[in-house]
Amino acid sequence: MQKRRNVITFIAMSLFASCSPALAQAPTELPVVATFSILADLARNVGGERIEVISLVGPNGDAHVYQPSPEDAKNLNGARLILVNGLGLEGWLDRLIKASAATAPIDVATKGIAPRKMEEDGKIGLDPHAWQSIPNAEIYVANIRDGLIAVDPAGADAYRANAAAYLAKLAELDKEVRAALAKIPPQRREIITTHDAFGYFGEAYDFKFIAPEGVSTETEASARDVAKIIRQIKAKKIPAVFLENVADPRMAKRIAEESGATIGGALYSDALSPPDGPAPTYVDMMRNNIKQLTAALAK
Ligand SMILES: [Zn+2]
Repeated sequence: MQKRRNVITFIAMSLFASCSPALAQAPTELPVVATFSILADLARNVGGERIEVISLVGPNGDAHVYQPSPEDAKNLNGARLILVNGLGLEGWLDRLIKASAATAPIDVATKGIAPRKMEEDGKIGLDPHAWQSIPNAEIYVANIRDGLIAVDPAGADAYRANAAAYLAKLAELDKEVRAALAKIPPQRREIITTHDAFGYFGEAYDFKFIAPEGVSTETEASARDVAKIIRQIKAKKIPAVFLENVADPRMAKRIAEESGATIGGALYSDALSPPDGPAPTYVDMMRNNIKQLTAALAK
């Protein structure tokens, strides 16, 4: 905790020291800050050439436990719109926004989505991973479109046209995902991931995911959690354990070894890949995940 406070103080100080020169040049594109890479990609599809999007948490980054940098505060301070996921994903954001003295409106991309409620260690919390269902991503896109129109009304027609085209693409992607997953038999639809990031995916596409870590990566799985999952895999004959791009693969590999389950490929849960990886966009991410699931589970 003490460490984090120091980081924030440092951010506030460095902002104060280096404010004015950067602001003298007005950017031609609307500066937008998104908290993590998936949200940034959705925003780029809606904003097109009118906006420049910066993602605070980068490719393969973990948005649950992110440590903000002074650069992030500067970017927030210069933003005209701040896009956030909400539902408890960005626990570090409120302090960062205060420290940055940002004044841009905050657009909550999950507004209007019915959140999944999770019980964890006796407490009820919200599951933030709503983007893993494509119908939910469509709601994100509508919220981003409306947020952009509110701060840049001159671009309204462009934002509406871009959003409509991208929504049509997402509707096609949803069909593609359902068709591909139809090849996986019902008894092979219960699987293991490292953290509980696929609850909305499971609801939308009829899967059940079990994870040793909860909906946040903040608390590590205990030896008891891991032992329980190994027992579940054996009792229910769960076919595969999947890795995740934002998680250390060691635990998943150990669980697979000790339970006899197959190790599936890496699912992209909370972040995209760098441009040269298998999931540089939201659409690529969903395709990658479907490819990994069908490769390990389809018969
Ligand atoms: Zn997560």
